[in-house]
Amino acid sequence: MSQDQDALTTLMNVPATRARLLVVDDQPINIQVMNQIFAEQYQVFMATSGQQALDFCHRTPPDLVLLDIVMPGMDGYEVCTALKAAPDTCDIPVIFVTAHTDATQETRGLEVGAVDFISKPVNPAVVRARVKTQLILKRQSDLMRRLVFLDGLTGVFNRRYFDQQLATEMARALRAQKPLALIMLDVDFFKRFNDHYGHQAGDDCLRQVAQTLKASLRRPADLVARYGGEEFACVLPETEFEQAMTMARELEADVRQKAIAHIHSDVAPVITVSLGVAGFTASASGDATALLALADAQLYLAKASGRGCVRGQQLA
Ligand code: GH3
Ligand code: MG
Ligand code: MG
Repeated sequence: MSQDQDALTTLMNVPATRARLLVVDDQPINIQVMNQIFAEQYQVFMATSGQQALDFCHRTPPDLVLLDIVMPGMDGYEVCTALKAAPDTCDIPVIFVTAHTDATQETRGLEVGAVDFISKPVNPAVVRARVKTQLILKRQSDLMRRLVFLDGLTGVFNRRYFDQQLATEMARALRAQKPLALIMLDVDFFKRFNDHYGHQAGDDCLRQVAQTLKASLRRPADLVARYGGEEFACVLPETEFEQAMTMARELEADVRQKAIAHIHSDVAPVITVSLGVAGFTASASGDATALLALADAQLYLAKASGRGCVRGQQLA
């Protein structure tokens, strides 16, 4: 998922897509059998060796792997161990399918991270039921993993995800010697807005601001997060300071253009935001904390300068 993709939309789409199963077996006839059982319900992919299976999983992770144990070259245990060891494939459930099931084999399979064990020859109704169960569990855990990073009110990323990403992007910027910019933004006179229009209207307003930010920042790497109550943060990788200043001014104008009535604001008769921009270049010293503190200080300056405006500075 790209970082600024509509996270909620992604969530909603999950149940609509057909699950993808990868069947791994060195005997094509066994793959055929599985294909007949599942082709109608799921997208079935096949691999005839462990290496092929791993390549497939790293390239286009399936929702579930049905894995033969005895294969020439890399056996099923090794494949499962490798899948579980890599961060991009460790969440894919693996079911072992094997001709000779005994307790030792089954124990070893579960130890290397398999979720279930099915013996050949397979009973179609039984495998279907077991696969279905695992797919439901997978779907639920995928959803959970994403939900912990989403802000419930606005649907943009939350503070937890922001903190993680800012640190990641900072490290990446240093490694790749690329610039990085951070925009902190706060709604002006929002307490008065709530007091006058009500908390529900306040919530609606925050949703609209979040949507506006997301719509305005369209580069795949840009990240919008709700930092706190009526405060948002945008992480802009590979963005020069001056570019970020331009983007911040555009965000300011875009929110203003939404024309959300706010008769008690001293800035304008509509909702406005104040923004603080901090720029980082790889030659500067400082870390994520320093960048955040600088953006915050610039936001404070924007507030002090009359609100509804942008202030910014580069990290020295
Ligand atoms: P300033 O221009 O200096 O930022 O003034 P302000 O009134 O926006 O700032 P202040 O920090 O005094 O008030 C923030 C308000 O934001 C108070 C709080 O009730 C409101 N707020 C915070 N989170 C939420 C929320 O989730 N929903 C709603 N409706 N209001 C919220
Ligand atoms: Mg405010
Ligand atoms: Mg505030």
